[in-house]
Amino acid sequence: MWSNFIRFMAPARCRLCHAPTPAEGLCRDCRARLPRPERACPQCALPLPAGSTDALCGECLSDPPAFDRAHVPLLYSPPLDGLIAGLKYHGRLAHARLLIEAFGPPPAGPPPDCLIPVPLHPARLRTRGFNQAAELARLLAERAGLPWDGDSLVRIRAAPAQRASGRRQRLRNVRGAFAWRGRAPCPPRVALVDDVVTTGATARAAAACLKRAGAQWVEIWAVARTPENEGRRTGDPASPADGDL
Ligand SMILES: [Zn+2]
Ligand SMILES: [Zn+2]
Repeated sequence: MWSNFIRFMAPARCRLCHAPTPAEGLCRDCRARLPRPERACPQCALPLPAGSTDALCGECLSDPPAFDRAHVPLLYSPPLDGLIAGLKYHGRLAHARLLIEAFGPPPAGPPPDCLIPVPLHPARLRTRGFNQAAELARLLAERAGLPWDGDSLVRIRAAPAQRASGRRQRLRNVRGAFAWRGRAPCPPRVALVDDVVTTGATARAAAACLKRAGAQWVEIWAVARTPENEGRRTGDPASPADGDL
């Protein structure tokens, strides 16, 4: 009775619309309203134009990435951009749980052997204090009952800001940026975890490194995808294209 009284006095509130909810987090309406692409490329999750009948996007057809598929259920637009920026740039670690809630259940199919977050360069990690991708990987692993490994894949080269560069340049910027430092080879099936996929260049480079290290199947798990080019047009500091994607 006492706990009911407390709940009556201070009900849990949705973190987005502040409506009372049965549990801490996002209410059902806000979860249902999260921005989702109508159609997306199954390999890289790039949103495809409505009415398109292509199986894959042009980029995956002409230059297939090292990863085998991508599960990125949402679009990088309000309110997710705000939640992600809050986590990344303002250290609001509680947002990681909301993002996991927004991500929803892991994709169908055989589960990966291990979740591996996209690593930050050590210099970036020192300034930020934490790796948002590792926070998400840890929570996803906990929820799915799977192991995660935040140590073996490392970033050996800092990424220059990718905002203004074209596709070729972006791919060049991340070439050789990752290395496998695990004591054992990479497990055969891996999910590479990140918060946002912006251009896919980072995911391509990190996945290629995992494949060289022994992975046979790499899938990308990220919360949100920007439509191609978005984020690089603006100078918004909350834009995801700050070079670590
Ligand atoms: Zn709500
Ligand atoms: Zn694609």
